[in-house]
Amino acid sequence: MTVVSIILGLIIGSFLNVVIYRLYHGGSILVSRSICPACRRHLTPWELVPVLSFVFLRGRCRTCHKKISWQYPVVELTCALTFGLLALNYQSPVSNVQFWIQLVFASFLIVIAMFDLKHYLILDKVVWPGIILAAISGIWGGHFVPSLLAGAGLALFFLLQYLLSQGRWIGLGDVKLGLFLGLVFGWPLTLTCIALAYFSGAAVGVLLIGLKRKQLSSQLPFGAFLGFSGIIVLIWGPAITGWYAKLIGL
Ligand SMILES: [Zn+2]
Repeated sequence: MTVVSIILGLIIGSFLNVVIYRLYHGGSILVSRSICPACRRHLTPWELVPVLSFVFLRGRCRTCHKKISWQYPVVELTCALTFGLLALNYQSPVSNVQFWIQLVFASFLIVIAMFDLKHYLILDKVVWPGIILAAISGIWGGHFVPSLLAGAGLALFFLLQYLLSQGRWIGLGDVKLGLFLGLVFGWPLTLTCIALAYFSGAAVGVLLIGLKRKQLSSQLPFGAFLGFSGIIVLIWGPAITGWYAKLIGL
């Protein structure tokens, strides 16, 4: 089943790439055919095979030789890996509704994280549908109220930082993403998620300053760290939380 999940992840990842591209550049997600963004040529089916096409084309368009964005293989591989690892958490994933819900949330997090990484923006038309789905999932699973409290708590925490920093530390998009993450994870996994986001954000920040790629004052896309941390918590959340609780002697 893990192999099937990985293949499904490659296919969904390829679709998420189209979503990310068209959310920014416009165009329908479902109808129009894929083109090379540089020379506008329609791509043949064999140029659209996840990961493999990128490798065989050596990251360049066949006709105009312009570089293909690293986003394509990265999103496809991330999605494949995430789906495969999520499947490992279940005895029989196919028959478990929770597994399919997690795949949907993972897809939302991948789009949000990658879009924020590229464009420093969290779009309402992505995050709100995610919030609504997470709320429905909470009602269905009978944990809506605690999840909503976690989501509202995290959103409020981010909103406070937004107001204090006048939008310099954190954007309003992060506030909505906080609501989404809280609804998805509830307590205590929401805490694990933001702890991971802050630690990884700080680590990458220090690394980039060390490599002189960024200055102390330059911004990092916090939503991307939240999104990737969310994916990690979807996969290993309970294990990480348990390990940490043991570490501090809880
Ligand atoms: Zn081209």
